[in-house]
Amino acid sequence: MSDDRFPNIMTVDVEDWFHILEVEGGYTRADWEGLEERVVGNTDRMLGLFDEAGVRTTFFIVGWVARRQPDLVRRIAAAGHEIGSHSYWHEVLGRHDRASLAADLAASKQLLEDLSGSEVTGFRAPGGSITPGQAWAFDVMMEAGYRYDSSLCPGYSSHGGFPSPYLGPHRLRCERGLMDEVPSATIGLGGRRIPYAGGGYLRLFPYALQKAATRLENRSGRPSNVYVHPREIDAGQPRMDLPALRRFKYYVGLESTESKMRSLLRDFRWMGARAWLDAHAAEIEPCVLDVREHAATQPPQPDPALVPPAPEAA
Ligand SMILES: [Zn+2]
Repeated sequence: MSDDRFPNIMTVDVEDWFHILEVEGGYTRADWEGLEERVVGNTDRMLGLFDEAGVRTTFFIVGWVARRQPDLVRRIAAAGHEIGSHSYWHEVLGRHDRASLAADLAASKQLLEDLSGSEVTGFRAPGGSITPGQAWAFDVMMEAGYRYDSSLCPGYSSHGGFPSPYLGPHRLRCERGLMDEVPSATIGLGGRRIPYAGGGYLRLFPYALQKAATRLENRSGRPSNVYVHPREIDAGQPRMDLPALRRFKYYVGLESTESKMRSLLRDFRWMGARAWLDAHAAEIEPCVLDVREHAATQPPQPDPALVPPAPEAA
């Protein structure tokens, strides 16, 4: 039976419970090896939810996870989902210089393509951490062979925020040409735009708000862009000793995510990011945000001690 409801985008950022960004009390790369891995069980449960709903979507996978769990990547691809990159090291872009980001993007793409057997064209930055000051990253993505990005937030964001007149999918004019952008979904609240459809916002806001906001997007001709993490359906995950506000944002509503996903999957139509872009190429063609002026700004040189190492050869 054909479904003529407006299609929305639901994506999964595949990372583990300890892949938290930029916080005191969180873990760093050096700690990861010794921690309990819960990503496989949680991702398999999510695969079950999508399978039950008959939805195929996009999984943006952290390269470090893919290297340790190659069969998980193969299972996601075999179930018909699109594989995208969520970077190799899961660091905010502000920790990268041009060379380290190029190495990270190339290594994660190659690894995910080898495991999935299909081309990886999409990238999502950890924490959506692309601000106008990091627009140079789009050209690095294009050089590495990516054709779309799904990192921007046209509103408030803890690690990013990129003011834009486009609230739905659009195109970016970069030095190297055009690439597509699937920004996170936001609602206007108290004079500014805040995300509602992913992470802590999805867990915190009641389902009635998710439903109303998604309907509003669809009436405006835009898809919602929901992002979930496997750990968000895992109420039993180990707790880190985080500062109070981060602790709240990281752990609030863990028990509610699975039922919200089920309700969203039931009440709306969903597809992956690449599939949405392919189906709506003509619509987004006139919506072009020129980022060349921002991109021309030299990236600030991060503290060399913070720059992630090149991932080992894939
Ligand atoms: Zn992430």
